[in-house]
Amino acid sequence: MQQLPPCPKCNSEYTYQDGTLYVCPGCAHEWSEADTAAAEAAAVVTDANGNPLADGDTVTVIKDLKVKGSSSVVKVGTKVKNIRLVDGDHDIDCKIDGIGAMKLKSEFVKKV
Ligand SMILES: [Zn+2]
Repeated sequence: MQQLPPCPKCNSEYTYQDGTLYVCPGCAHEWSEADTAAAEAAAVVTDANGNPLADGDTVTVIKDLKVKGSSSVVKVGTKVKNIRLVDGDHDIDCKIDGIGAMKLKSEFVKKV
């Protein structure tokens, strides 16, 4: 059996894994191995080419991305200005002209 880490919030050992996340049934805290690593060293978010990204960067989208909850699509080549890096599976927070605020995955963008 795989040894799962105890909950970082309440120290419960009854954690379980849900995809890439760990979940604590005791306090409902969810975290990932990436979060744990980020706590130890500042996580570096990189684009599709492995270039590090930073807040305020401009990127372009490298593939058509469906916008969750709508029929809109962010077309390949769309320029996204002033990104903000956030924690999570979708690690870029941004605003796209004609679509509005949304989150992107850094693996689907390229730094301009
Ligand atoms: Zn917990």
